[in-house]
Amino acid sequence: MAIVEEVERGSSGRRRLSLKNPATMEELGVIEVSTADDVNAAAKAARAAQPAWARVSLKDRAALVQKAVKVIVRRSEEIAAMSMSETGRTAQETLAMEVLAACDALTWAAKRAPRVLRDRRRWMHLLGPMKSLHLLHRPLGVVGVITPWNGPFILSVNPVAQALLAGNAVLLKPSEVTPNTGAMVGSIFEEAGLPPGVLQVLPGDGETGAALVDADVDKISFTGSVRTGRKIGEACGRRLIPCTLELGGKDPAIVCADANLDRAAAGTVFGACMNAGQVCMAVERIYVVEEIYDEFVDKVVEHCSAITPGADADMGPIIWPPQLEVIESHLADALEKGATVLLGGGRVKDIEGLYFEPTVVTGVTHDMALMKEETFGPVVAVMKVSDEEEALRLANDSDYGLSSSVWTGDKRKGLALARQIESGSACVNDSEIVYGVTEAPFGGLKQSGVGSVNSESGLLGYSHLMPVVINRFNNDREQMWYPFDAKGADGMRKAINFLWNTPIGRWMS
Ligand code: NAD
Repeated sequence: MAIVEEVERGSSGRRRLSLKNPATMEELGVIEVSTADDVNAAAKAARAAQPAWARVSLKDRAALVQKAVKVIVRRSEEIAAMSMSETGRTAQETLAMEVLAACDALTWAAKRAPRVLRDRRRWMHLLGPMKSLHLLHRPLGVVGVITPWNGPFILSVNPVAQALLAGNAVLLKPSEVTPNTGAMVGSIFEEAGLPPGVLQVLPGDGETGAALVDADVDKISFTGSVRTGRKIGEACGRRLIPCTLELGGKDPAIVCADANLDRAAAGTVFGACMNAGQVCMAVERIYVVEEIYDEFVDKVVEHCSAITPGADADMGPIIWPPQLEVIESHLADALEKGATVLLGGGRVKDIEGLYFEPTVVTGVTHDMALMKEETFGPVVAVMKVSDEEEALRLANDSDYGLSSSVWTGDKRKGLALARQIESGSACVNDSEIVYGVTEAPFGGLKQSGVGSVNSESGLLGYSHLMPVVINRFNNDREQMWYPFDAKGADGMRKAINFLWNTPIGRWMS
């Protein structure tokens, strides 16, 4: 069963892919895969359009992004319908995850960009009386954005808007599984008045993505799997261009004895099953201290049993068929090694589409793929631990480090435990929230990624901060310049002694 299939080439000679809705298996049409020539032509057009866009004032660039938000709000049902047709997700989840999150992220960035990206002057602690320092934000140039299928609108529109705010031209390559939702990003900015060539969408699969990384671009912003991220990182390394890699996760949750167990169970089940588990920061492993383990597991089963799969229900399908096989293989491996499935464990049989049952598994160990590799499905894997120390050790026994959560009645302890988890971000008594917090930089440690997106630092990641030092006076020469002589060396000795060997000097330095 495939939802993306290669079909015969058309008259243009390009490869073509047919698409299906993973919930209904209804045909969604055919896309043409952009070739390396298409990508290079788009990069040339972007290069030509970028300088004029960079000259548009920051205030006007921000105003254009605010206009795009208005377009998103007006076309929200259309965006949700497109995303739902390609992902099969439910309406509430799609509106929250794709549309609401996008409006919030873009509005926040547009309001802050004029302050975050404005050129500024800084006083220099020693040289200030003689020279002034200007910090100029320069766009990088042309940015390639490559995105996955699990949040096709938000994960495309958000980096695109941040790169545009910083004055770059952008080439967006959305996932071949959800190309039409990605294409809407282009049409929204066009309607908002973005000049031609500044944002171009390149439909296609890995072939197009690889061509984009090799094209005349100045940065790649990638969201997707570790496997592809590694290839992109290598290619960018060879070309010496920067990249941000937002990759997969295997997020741990630690449930302490003093946690509000109702909230912890509801929150971890939501964290594991939202978007049918196809979220990079999904709760994939839960470590529960033994005192409250049985009670917690009962509550988890209760919450999970209440989730109904189905287009008009709570949980959408698995969007990409090979992912179903990954989920099944992780469960089979766990069962073979002694785990117990308390709930679910298989494909939903009575509805059409690629639905998987909300599943609860106990008796898991770190010998199992289910506790070590990204499952990306609605599976709640719960492991009993003797105490928080053991939970921490197991939480950190992972190649991944995207996000994490701690559940406790003591917020200070929660913060202390969060600090010790090897993950790019964490929540205390919450889950699935960090990417949606516009003020929070989001990025992974270990194999979960390189760099971060969102917040002020995300915006700054699309610009080069260029220091320009201006000499205040028109003096003939500096003390440091030629000619060198004994008097000059003596002056250096005196300066070192004064600055770091006297109280007033140390204060000045
Ligand atoms: P993927 O790596 O298979 O594909 C992602 C994108 O890369 C697609 O557009 C694809 O066409 C393109 N691509 C494939 N091969 C390429 C190549 N050689 N060169 C350039 N581009 C190439 O990932 P996916 O299956 O679409 O997405 C799921 C993964 O994304 C999961 O691992 C998930 O955890 C991760 N993800 C991470 C975040 C985050 O912010 N950390 C967010 C969402 C998803």
